[in-house]
Amino acid sequence: MADPKALYQEVILDHNRKPRNFGTLSQASHTAEGHNPLCGDHITLALELRGDAIEGIAFQGESCAICKASASMMTAMVKGKTRQTAETLIKEFRDMATGALDVGQGDHHLGRLTVFAGVRDLPTRVKCAILPWHTLHAAFNSVSSTSTEAGDDPMHAPIGDA
Ligand code: ZN
Repeated sequence: MADPKALYQEVILDHNRKPRNFGTLSQASHTAEGHNPLCGDHITLALELRGDAIEGIAFQGESCAICKASASMMTAMVKGKTRQTAETLIKEFRDMATGALDVGQGDHHLGRLTVFAGVRDLPTRVKCAILPWHTLHAAFNSVSSTSTEAGDDPMHAPIGDA
């Protein structure tokens, strides 16, 4: 069985070297900006929705390695899926990162994204990992700008003092 820490480092490195879906979309139907002031992560996410299907997705910006790897894996995971499937993953990823979901126990659809399960033990990095998902949620809802520190942040409360 692979060492989860080694796998985590390998995935982070790989997605930072070759981020998937990095750039912009010419046919974006939805865009959102996300900030994580605690770390300085700042990403822009573009979506091309056709009906309920995610036809295209791209991200760019300046962020730390964890945020970039999370964004890269997220785009690869949700591209071609439905909005409903992506919303389920947003909730599951948030629950995993904040410790509400134990990926070894509960039912979930996270697949390879479970390499991020360890961030729940790294309170300062939880929001780095969540930011891309939080920004995707904003884009779906036509919210143009979001922050992991906003008062109306639906993901703020569960993160607590992290
Ligand atoms: Zn960060």
